[in-house]
Amino acid sequence: MKRLNTIITFDCAYCGATNEIEFDPTAGKHVALTEDCYICCRPNHLRITVDEETLETTVDVEMDN
Ligand SMILES: [Zn+2]
Repeated sequence: MKRLNTIITFDCAYCGATNEIEFDPTAGKHVALTEDCYICCRPNHLRITVDEETLETTVDVEMDN
């Protein structure tokens, strides 16, 4: 059985710190998440796209509006 959870990294949209989060790539093809930066605690809006075949993830980060 495949390991489901993967670690994805994103750079905080505010302070640039690299954050790591655990993500289940089977959660969906397009997933929106809000994660607080562990350094500055401001909310980063992540849009995660999962390649259905490879389960590779692409992450877009946006600031809170
Ligand atoms: Zn930050």
